[in-house]
This record gives sequence, structure tokens and C-alpha cells, in this order.
Amino acid sequence: MSLNPLNYGKTCTVPPVPGEAALEIEHVTFRYPGAPEPALEDVTLRIAPGERVALVGPNGAGKSTLIKLVAALEKPASGSIRIYGNPVGSCHHRVALVPQRSEVDWRFPVTVRDVVMMGRYVHLGWLKRPRREDHEAVERAMEMMQISDLAGRQVGELSGGQQQRVMLARTLAHDADLLLLDEPLNHVDVPTQELIFHVLEKLAAQGRAVIVSTHDLGILPIHFSRAIFLDRHVVADGPVGEVLTAETLARAYGVHLCTERVEAINGRVAG
Ligand code: ADP
Ligand code: MG
Repeated sequence: MSLNPLNYGKTCTVPPVPGEAALEIEHVTFRYPGAPEPALEDVTLRIAPGERVALVGPNGAGKSTLIKLVAALEKPASGSIRIYGNPVGSCHHRVALVPQRSEVDWRFPVTVRDVVMMGRYVHLGWLKRPRREDHEAVERAMEMMQISDLAGRQVGELSGGQQQRVMLARTLAHDADLLLLDEPLNHVDVPTQELIFHVLEKLAAQGRAVIVSTHDLGILPIHFSRAIFLDRHVVADGPVGEVLTAETLARAYGVHLCTERVEAINGRVAG
């Protein structure tokens, strides 16, 4: 599937319900049309505002599918998804998605500044012209991602790391409360990775909820307090130090790592 970066066109006035979770998924099952088995089965999880959660699992585990359901790009067959207390899809304003790079059509003829401005359309509605505050939000977002000098370039001409910065800048301009990043670190250089994590840390400190799918176990103890291991259903969910165990990895990945290797990933082994 190719995602047009112009996914969201709806303004929204639904307020968050005070005290509700940023994301609450209950007993969600989803099957792609014609697929022999569900991509997700009876998934239940709850994420609070301010949490930075890694969604971890092997290829085909259902990470992207779960993210698409939360972004209202797919509909669950059963179960419920609530975002800040409201049914999924009722407020695109509040949810921003950085899709997996491979799912974006990078040949789309737009400049960096245009893509970042797309993050503002949820606030603008389709037919309105950007206001001064929209232009300012776009410039701020590009500065934060250190891409101001690329503003006039076509996105298709950029490197993978630069494109990922553009997508995150679009998300910053969107000013959402729930951020979904699907494998944002794939094919991205180390300075861009560091910048992404720095920005995500800031956003979480502002009380926004951040969900990042990844299969890179090494980054979990450094950048996340919580990990949800997925393999069509939730295999483990909790503080990284507790769930990142040889047993979880065996259940999620079907591989058996020795305890020393797991402890090394967890950073508990000195030297
Ligand atoms: P992950 O992101 O963890 O690699 P996905 O959510 O992409 O996993 O895929 C979960 C399962 O759903 C896989 O078996 C995959 O082949 C299947 N799948 C994903 N997208 C589609 C689609 N558009 N149509 C049919 N099956 C799909
Ligand atoms: Mg995926």
C-alpha cells in the first residue's frame, strides 16, 4: 500500500475526557480480507499520557496493523479502541502517525515545507489557507528537526534520514497528543536517531503519549520505560527491565537467547 501523506483532512472539536487513558484498546481482533488468520487477536492494552512505549515484535507480528487501527486507517472486526476517552476516528486532531518509510509514496511531488504544512491541515480544514500561526508552527517544527535549510527541496530527493526528519516535523506541526511512529529508525543514521529520541523525550515530558514500533531490542532499555511485545497477541507488557527476558524473547521471536545476552541488552552486565 502507498500512503498519500495527506491522510488527515478532518478538523475536530471533541474534547479529551478528563482522567481517561491516552489509548485504551480492549479485546481487539482484526483480519485482513481473505487472510487465513487474524493479524491481531484479542489485543488489550492501556497507555497513559506521558508514557513512551516500545511496540516490539518480529516481522509480521502485527505492529503496523495495530498502529493503523489506532490511526483509524483500518477498522477492527471486534473490540474497542478509545483515544483520550473518545472512539477511534472521532478526532484525527489528536493522533499523529509517522508511517513505516516503505509505505509512503516518496515520488509525490511536494517540497519539505509542503509536507510539514500537511501536519496543519487537521487544524485548518481542507479549503482554508494557512494562517500566520500555521506558518510559524511549520517553521518551528522544521527548526526542531534541523531541516530548515531543506525547506524548498522535493522530498523525493532526500536521504532516508532526512525524509524521516521531515515526517517527524510534520508530526510536530500536527501538535497531536498521541504519536504513533512505525519503525522510525529503519535506514536512519545515528544523529537522526538521537534527534528523534530527543524530540520524543520532550514530547512525552509535555504529557503526550508516544508509541514507537521497533525490532531493535538494544534501544529498549535506553529510550523506553515500557515495552509491549506483540506476536498477533500481547506476549508481554511492562517495564523494560521486567519484560525483556529470555522467556519473553523465546515467546515473541521463537528464539532462545542465553541469559547473559539478554542481560547485556538490558545493560546489567558490566564490561
Ligand atoms: P509488522 O508490522 O509487525 O511486521 P504487519 O502488521 O505489517 O506486521 O503484518 C501483520 C500480518 O498481516 C502479516 O501476516 C502480514 O502479512 C499481514 N498483512 C499486513 N498488511 C496486509 C494487507 N494489506 N493485506 C493482507 N495482509 C496483510
Ligand atoms: Mg510493520
